[in-house]
Amino acid sequence: MAKKKTAAAKRTTGKSGKSSKHVYFFGGGKADGNRNMKELLGGKGAGLAEMTNAGLPVPPGFTISTEVCSIYYKENRKIPGAIDREIGEQLKKLEKAAGATLGSTRNPLLVSVRSGAKFSMPGMMDTILNLGLNDDAVEGLKAQTKNGRFAYDSYRRFIQMFGSVVLEIPKDKFEHEFEGVKKARGARLDTDLDEQALREVVERYKKVVKERTRRDFPQDPHQQLTMARDAVFRSWMNARAIEYRRIYDIPDHIGTAVNVQMMVFGNTGDRSGTGVGFTRNPATGAKEFYGEFLINAQGEDVVAGIRTPQPIRELEQVMPKAYKQLREITTRLEKNYKDVQDFEFTIQDERLFMLQTRSGKRTGYAAVVIATDLVDEKLITPKEAILLVDPEALNQLLAPGFDPDEWKKLPVATRGLPASPGAASGAVVFSADRAVEWVNQGKQVILVRRETVPDDIHGMFVSQGILTATGGMTSHAAVVGRQMGKPSVVGAGALAIDEAGKQFRVEGKTVKEGDFVSFDGLSGEVKLGKVASKPSEILQVLNKTLDAKKSDIYQRFDKLLSWADKYRRLGIRANADQPDQAELAYAFGARGIGLCRTEHMFFGEGRIPIVQKMILADNEADRRKALDQLLPLQRDDFYGVFKGMHGEPVTIRTIDPPLHEFLPKREELMVEIARLEERGKKGKELDDKRHLLERVEQLHEFNPMLGHRGVRLGITYPEITEMQTRAIIEAACRLQKEGIKVVPEIMIPLVGMVKELRDQKAVVDRVAAEVMKAEGVKIKYLVGTMIEVPRGAATADQIATEAEFFSFGTNDLTQLSYGFSRDDVGKFLRIYQEKKILEKDPFASIDTEGVGALVDTGVKLGRKTRPDLKLGICGEHGGDPASIHFFDQVGLDYVSASPYRVPVARLAAAQAALSVKVGD
Ligand code: PEP
Ligand code: MG
Repeated sequence: MAKKKTAAAKRTTGKSGKSSKHVYFFGGGKADGNRNMKELLGGKGAGLAEMTNAGLPVPPGFTISTEVCSIYYKENRKIPGAIDREIGEQLKKLEKAAGATLGSTRNPLLVSVRSGAKFSMPGMMDTILNLGLNDDAVEGLKAQTKNGRFAYDSYRRFIQMFGSVVLEIPKDKFEHEFEGVKKARGARLDTDLDEQALREVVERYKKVVKERTRRDFPQDPHQQLTMARDAVFRSWMNARAIEYRRIYDIPDHIGTAVNVQMMVFGNTGDRSGTGVGFTRNPATGAKEFYGEFLINAQGEDVVAGIRTPQPIRELEQVMPKAYKQLREITTRLEKNYKDVQDFEFTIQDERLFMLQTRSGKRTGYAAVVIATDLVDEKLITPKEAILLVDPEALNQLLAPGFDPDEWKKLPVATRGLPASPGAASGAVVFSADRAVEWVNQGKQVILVRRETVPDDIHGMFVSQGILTATGGMTSHAAVVGRQMGKPSVVGAGALAIDEAGKQFRVEGKTVKEGDFVSFDGLSGEVKLGKVASKPSEILQVLNKTLDAKKSDIYQRFDKLLSWADKYRRLGIRANADQPDQAELAYAFGARGIGLCRTEHMFFGEGRIPIVQKMILADNEADRRKALDQLLPLQRDDFYGVFKGMHGEPVTIRTIDPPLHEFLPKREELMVEIARLEERGKKGKELDDKRHLLERVEQLHEFNPMLGHRGVRLGITYPEITEMQTRAIIEAACRLQKEGIKVVPEIMIPLVGMVKELRDQKAVVDRVAAEVMKAEGVKIKYLVGTMIEVPRGAATADQIATEAEFFSFGTNDLTQLSYGFSRDDVGKFLRIYQEKKILEKDPFASIDTEGVGALVDTGVKLGRKTRPDLKLGICGEHGGDPASIHFFDQVGLDYVSASPYRVPVARLAAAQAALSVKVGD
């Protein structure tokens, strides 16, 4: 298919990237655009252009570019006259290609008007079908098709859609009239209504429009088109589209394109139909033709989940010729795009038309299966496979499933369609708002709906899983559930859901809001009650409770990540402070620990009283006594962590947090003391508590995060650094004597001045020399620092005179750059995001402009002093794909992430090295 830019595209895209052309035609085997123009034409527009160029049966049309959407908003929701004229010209071209004229009474052209942004946002924006009909054109359509029923059915659909989307009349106003006519005529199904009945529906609808808008339904098709176009642009900014973009990190400024396309009709009778499908199963990744269709219906009926469609295989029996052609075309599309395609088609009187093709959304599970299969089928290379899987998708593979023994204990209440795999268990809620409310209270919920609608997106996002009574495998709940990686079962028809009454009935049982339900998104089985889950197959293999050879998904996961390892430049380490975490991180592929937070070890069983003793000591001798007790415990910890890393480097950080974190809260102590006093208790217990309170009050700080913590603790209490160094080096000596390799890296936190580091380095070197001498062993260790104070980054050249490595602490660096407290940012972050002051949470994804600039400065200055300086990052950003991309660019040596994020980091690092922008 057309790989080269078409002449039109070349001509019109200037250096600035802005084009003077705004409307792109497709039809008659030729298109102005192509598949590479997603940014300008949106995914749908680019796909239609590509299919047209490939000679596939695509109804002609034109795409109004995403730039026009930006212009629309910039110009206060208006389109300049010049663009209007351009649209007019393209419309003439379309009329010529279609051999029909908008509004004609003899041969009317009808069009669809659809949204389509660069990233697909299923169901979030608006669509209008059958545009161009009015009181005269409907007669023209009737005469032309000799099908009055069809003509009036199309007209009533159009008024209903236009009325609700463009004129913003509540849908139920139309539904009420429709049901009224059905009832009066004793009709059960929509299809039972004849032309006469549909004429009446049209009349009633027009009355609704007049009453609600005080105007007649617009009869001028050109005016209809302008209004519909603007409504689609408006829908870019509706609440659900904004929420969807927030969840998926899609920028607001990119805008949507509008596709105007000649209508083809799936609702002309039993030789017509419409459907959607995938070239492979998007839930499991299996290589099977997958999808659904409805006979005598229009596209929206399938996705809306109102009628339950038939599986696509059955199309082979109903319309064998069209089915064969569809298979051929979609196979070709998959080969050409080198990825699973999600397509839409309509069959009008047995003639097939393609309406869309795009890369199919899939579950994380399917993503890995498909990528590895495509390599086996030689359709793509391992490098391409790496780029095909969203790193976040790997998280889904690590999510727990049900324990099969526990699962078996409950009877199956009902079965639905397995739309998105995974185990879900939670309290039932019947509305998206309730889901959010309960999740905020710390509950786990299952969202149960007759069918989900795009407005449910916020509730779906927070639920454990989604369960619906109607709809097929491509209904809204299924598509969105899969994309979010939420276990979903749809079309569980046996559920009699009473959403207003907040309950459902199944198998004679009533389930109320708050009752527990569990389901398996892979089998579709639904059970009443709570079921415990068990680790994913991947984890079972890593924990050695399952043989790798018996787990197909593990093998694929492993294969994909070993390809990633070949291409990535960044090293991957883990943040871990326990031996089992180190083991797990190693098994996940981490090769080194980037941050061992030693203070976490102080919270271990029986240790807090010793730590408190150390803190409470008011002289060095007492402090040393407590530290002597801690020494063997820390030594054992380090021994375990070193061993768990199998000879890879381990960065151990000396104590960091403010000491009061280890002491009880002031208010709690005061209550306890008051109680003891009230009961007339005297003696040691009361004295101890009073002493503790006194010390807690002494340690109180107004801004503990900016207070006595980090390197400042080591400088004021060098005996703590001494003890920790001793524990590290003694553990290392022991291992070395056992013949096990160790590479300790001792890291001093929160350094902002070279003199701070010099002070602590002297302590470390002195103690290390003493221990090595006493043990008669030589250990090669490094001393370095965290760069997490802006001054540290700005003076990194000086700091590097002492430091043998830097690890960027981007948590503190973000906190101190913005002056946002890590612990209090939640109070205003959301509002900042709503007001677009911040696009993303800077604690989750690195702020490349500010914090990132400090990292870049630190790297450059540090390497100027010490070209072989080892550079890493150990803040939370080390596991975030977009941040990893940035760290790769600035030239760090490694990223360190929590053990469960290690697979994500491996894949993201490979994608970064292959220079693909995350989200593209
Ligand atoms: C950091 O500040 O980025 C860091 C890793 O240290 P901590 O989160 O322990 O302050
Ligand atoms: Mg820190």
